[in-house]
Amino acid sequence: KETQRLDKILSNLGYGTRKEIKQAVRSGLVKVDGIFVSDSGMHVDPYGSRIEIAGETVNYKKHIYVMMNKPPGVVSATYDKRLKTVADILPDSFKVFELFPVGRLDIDTEGLLLMTNDGQLAHGLLSPRRHVSKRYYAVVDGEVTGEDVLSFKEGITIDDGYTTMPSELQILEAGRQSKIELTIYEGKFHQVKRMFQAVGKRVEYLKRIQMGGLRLDEHLKTGASRELTGEEEAIIK
Ligand code: URA
Repeated sequence: KETQRLDKILSNLGYGTRKEIKQAVRSGLVKVDGIFVSDSGMHVDPYGSRIEIAGETVNYKKHIYVMMNKPPGVVSATYDKRLKTVADILPDSFKVFELFPVGRLDIDTEGLLLMTNDGQLAHGLLSPRRHVSKRYYAVVDGEVTGEDVLSFKEGITIDDGYTTMPSELQILEAGRQSKIELTIYEGKFHQVKRMFQAVGKRVEYLKRIQMGGLRLDEHLKTGASRELTGEEEAIIK
């Protein structure tokens, strides 16, 4: 079981600075599994233990929902032997909750990534039967045409023979390099890149800008995360 310092757990949950937690412990306000503690640096398994402050049980298991603007170069995983993960780049205040990404973006893909510790919600959003929409912005090498828009609308057959569901392709700028937005309703491995590959074009830059009704906050800097607002939380539930 993963243990963490008691003072770190509590300060990350917003119960004060480590110094304040130390004082609370000294004042006999903190119990772990029913026993008053004397060392604020003691290691505790936050999931397996009951922590109380001044008689109030700390709600550690609360589900939290975080929006990340994923930067390129990090993997959508919680652990990797070699590479930096999206869990690694969360602020410490979120790390305590052991969040995992809802679905995956390729290492070079940027943008909206929902992170949570709510397994049931994640499962629901990822269920293939739910067809939760995902909207991407992409820069494509090659001229995206009206013909492509029609093919994408009908569904196109990608390299492994799979024919995609109808998707909505919108051309923002066409030329030797094109800027587009694409909404898909499923999530096959490398789907957007493979759809363009099927029409002879290469995705140079890919950013997810929406998932279901949840839009990427355009003020959220690349690599930054924040908790969803109540409104946003209602949208995804
Ligand atoms: N499609 C892709 O090709 N890559 C992603 O990261 C997401 C969708």
